[in-house]
Amino acid sequence: MVNAPFFVNFTCSSTRHPGVARFEWVNEQWLLVGASRQRPESNPVAAEQRSQSGSFACASTYTGCPSCKADSFVQCGRCQSLGCWDNSWPEYTCPACGNQGPVSGGIESVSATGSS
Ligand SMILES: [Zn+2]
Ligand SMILES: [Zn+2]
Repeated sequence: MVNAPFFVNFTCSSTRHPGVARFEWVNEQWLLVGASRQRPESNPVAAEQRSQSGSFACASTYTGCPSCKADSFVQCGRCQSLGCWDNSWPEYTCPACGNQGPVSGGIESVSATGSS
């Protein structure tokens, strides 16, 4: 198992701006270490799909969503896409498919769009 840092498409659930999140393997779990805005015309460099499993969390150094500063993230249970999430929000609305509901459980796998 290769635990190299990887990038995942990430959408701001407030503004629907597309972005890219970077995960790094730290202390036996994947930590979200940063997210950046992605211009709509720029596609991820590598389109290779690979699935990462494990537990997912936010790094203490994570500075929040680049668009709305939400301090965490959620993976949609329906379409599996990642969106920003703030712990103060009562519900999550998926920016990709519109799925809406309270956030529960942890994230156990994420499909990456490419490696660094
Ligand atoms: Zn956001
Ligand atoms: Zn969804």
